[in-house]
Amino acid sequence: MGKQPDFDAVVIGAGITGMYQLYKLREQGFRVKGIEAAPDVGGAWFWNRYPGCRVDSESHTYSYFWSDELKQKFNWTERFAGQPEVLSYLQTAADLMDIRKNYVFNQRVRHARWDNENSYWIVQLEEGGSIPFTTRFLFSAMGPLSAPQMPNVPGVYTFEGQWWHTGRWPRDPDSNRGADIDFTGKRVAVVGTGASGVQVIQEMAKVVKDLYVYQRSPNWCCPLGNAPVSQQEMDEIKANYTALNEFCDTTLSGFPHKWIDQHTLDVPAEEREAKYQELYKGPGFSLWLGNYKDYLEDPEANAVVTEFVTRKIRERVKDPVIAEKLTPRDHGYGTRRVPMETKYFECYNQDNVHLIDLRETPIEQVEPNGIRTSDGNLTEVDVIVYATGFYAIRGSLSRVEIYGKDGRSLNQVWKDEGVETYLGLMVDGFPNFFTLVGPQNGTVFCNIPRCSAAAIDWNDGLMQNVMDKGITTIEADPKAQDEWNELCTTLLAKGLLGKTSSWFTGVNKNVEGAQKREVLFYAGGIPEFKELCVDIQNDNWRGFLFDGKPAVKQSEPA
Ligand code: NAP
Repeated sequence: MGKQPDFDAVVIGAGITGMYQLYKLREQGFRVKGIEAAPDVGGAWFWNRYPGCRVDSESHTYSYFWSDELKQKFNWTERFAGQPEVLSYLQTAADLMDIRKNYVFNQRVRHARWDNENSYWIVQLEEGGSIPFTTRFLFSAMGPLSAPQMPNVPGVYTFEGQWWHTGRWPRDPDSNRGADIDFTGKRVAVVGTGASGVQVIQEMAKVVKDLYVYQRSPNWCCPLGNAPVSQQEMDEIKANYTALNEFCDTTLSGFPHKWIDQHTLDVPAEEREAKYQELYKGPGFSLWLGNYKDYLEDPEANAVVTEFVTRKIRERVKDPVIAEKLTPRDHGYGTRRVPMETKYFECYNQDNVHLIDLRETPIEQVEPNGIRTSDGNLTEVDVIVYATGFYAIRGSLSRVEIYGKDGRSLNQVWKDEGVETYLGLMVDGFPNFFTLVGPQNGTVFCNIPRCSAAAIDWNDGLMQNVMDKGITTIEADPKAQDEWNELCTTLLAKGLLGKTSSWFTGVNKNVEGAQKREVLFYAGGIPEFKELCVDIQNDNWRGFLFDGKPAVKQSEPA
């Protein structure tokens, strides 16, 4: 019998996923502790406070559906809430769970080491000096989009004006907003045109003297369709939460948008055009996830909707040369994450907005006064906003060292052998370590609060099994891990997302070793993932080893 750990379970992260996981474990009776790098809860919504930051899932679906009290208490004021409101929602949830008392804030995990002798994790914090603590179970809830990534261009730190990464925006100390920075009359550069860049650009364009947009790859941006939510609408939403939840549970990714049960090319062109027009005007991901069911698998079907969105860009951008530069040519519509916008394309009709196409003139370097491109031109600016995104899905895990049973770190194992997991939840050789919303999990391509909560509810059963049977270790069975990897690979290969380089497929040109596509998400959709999980549970937690052995079947002698 080894030594007893300080805690039964430690959760890293106080974002949407971490808070709920910690709460569930505490309610189950485990001695818990949470570690959070920020001074308070909120995760991505704590850090991303750039102008224009807002959610592009319908607010009322971007929710903790498990709490009736929260659903009835919280009033969303916009169809797609701004960052301060989403953060306020998460703070309300934290109060309701009384979760802050279980967290240590302003602390980052530096590394965690599995202790074979005592079967527990030894966790070292950045600020902890030489005193680590121990825990039987370790849950990573560090988020799939939480490791901000600066661009790998020379001189970024030599700039003498103001600069920020969107994912680490300065805070207003007295509110949920970003710091009150006046950009009026300033010359501002924005590098990056993903979902964050698009949101910043359309806000900045309203006030700055000159806005220089540094675009490497254009994206298929589509209108968000935001609108205020009246009290009457909110009351209706509250009365219908159950039905809404049930509907979202049947969709691919937990959003209120469902495939049309028809093949694109089977639909007469006129009817299809009308449908596209309707979906384009529709809220949120209507066109992306409410389209004909085959368009993300069949290249011909994809080409039809791609042509439609191309036309939309041309209609909205007056200068045909600029419109062409804003049109993606290396991937079809929907095969990368679609940024949602509000009058984004119209910004380029303004005299103060200048598009710099980095495919023609790449950034050579950042200099004290501005950005120099390969044509020798130095654009002098007062502010640079890096909207260059995140090292996604595996990035947060890559910035912590987790040493498993054989002393190798998870980073090393994945570097040597490629990313492999069981259910995107556990990795062979790393007992009692759970990667929530991690690589290859069903919740990655999903409406995160809804889907991660569903996965956590399932973990509840797994952990109850541990508690009831006095189990010390859970591990992934290597055979089950191989099978899971194979399934994820097969599913991803079926669709066009898997054939496109983007953060979904692990490509980040700024990160060494992240240039090739990887199998980082389960592409079978959340309904299938949930069904699979239930099946595994009913099959005596198939694929997990408890204290080194598969679970004993009820009918078998112990
Ligand atoms: P992103 O989609 O990865 O976009 C990063 C942008 O920076 C890309 O345009 C990229 O160009 C560019 N870039 C990166 N390195 C560069 C370099 N060295 N030189 C020039 N350009 C460079 O990141 P993001 O916009 O932060 O969004 C990430 C994800 O966060 C989104 O897809 C979404 O899931 C989530 N998000 C959600 C919301 C919301 O709910 N409303 C808002 C923001 C973000 P390349 O494409 O050529 O690499």
